[in-house]
Amino acid sequence: MLSNSLIEKISRDLNNSKRVVAFTGAGISAESGIPTYRGKGGFWTKYDPDKYASIDYFEKDPSYYWSFFKESRKPILENAKPNPAHYSLAELEKREKLRCVITQNIDGMHQQAGSKNVIELHGTTRNFRCKRCEKFYTLEEIGELLKVELPPLCKECKGIIRPNVIFFGEMLPQDALRRAISEAENCDFMMAIGSSLVVYPAAQIPLIAKDKGAILLIINVEPTGLDLSADYVINEKAGKVLPEIVEHLNSIS
Ligand code: NAD
Repeated sequence: MLSNSLIEKISRDLNNSKRVVAFTGAGISAESGIPTYRGKGGFWTKYDPDKYASIDYFEKDPSYYWSFFKESRKPILENAKPNPAHYSLAELEKREKLRCVITQNIDGMHQQAGSKNVIELHGTTRNFRCKRCEKFYTLEEIGELLKVELPPLCKECKGIIRPNVIFFGEMLPQDALRRAISEAENCDFMMAIGSSLVVYPAAQIPLIAKDKGAILLIINVEPTGLDLSADYVINEKAGKVLPEIVEHLNSIS
């Protein structure tokens, strides 16, 4: 059970804030059964990120990424459902308390939970495109193509298909990054949820908000590199903390 006085203080600050923004990382989806990269039980303890998450390796051997995707990522994505943390953020947005979610995640869980204003800094593994002709593919279509060949080839031009994620070695989508920085600069309350806050430039977002005078709340099961800069740190699961905050907020607003 979280300390009531802490939840009360956070809820009061949230209630008084006019421009609330959330920044989320892989930890918010851990309770949906999607493994994180870092942290206990993280993905990278089992797979080699130098291979499947790198654009250089994808260019050299796209089959490595696609066998990893087919065997591991696709079944996880197909079975995962948003958890109470995603739903809490969607509810805050619906009540016009939350302006947007800036996410490092590539799993589409925020949108599935009902969040509308989602800024995806690292793209998505829910859709794909042909490297040659840019033809767009859905997860379902890729599932069909993966039954036939690996790597999947474009139906139109036989080019290699890639996920619409940002691999290591690629630039972040500049429009998304610009919007994220602007939201961070202008917010008065930033919640950083389930991120190890070590991947730059994305992890800069909460710091920008803090430097501009926003209140910074960090929710993570483990300590992060930005804990010393935060106004509030809660080392608990996001799926437990966020519903409690929303419930408290409901009772005071
Ligand atoms: P990360 O994997 O580096 O760190 C996850 C953090 O979440 C850890 O600090 C861990 O302690 C914390 N955590 C784990 N379970 C939690 C819970 N229930 N509640 C709160 N916190 C919890 O994640 P990151 O900082 O987002 O890493 C960045 C990279 O990982 C991004 O590039 C992102 O694209 C990628 N990634 C995304 C997904 C996804 O889309 N779900 C999954 C794995 C990795």
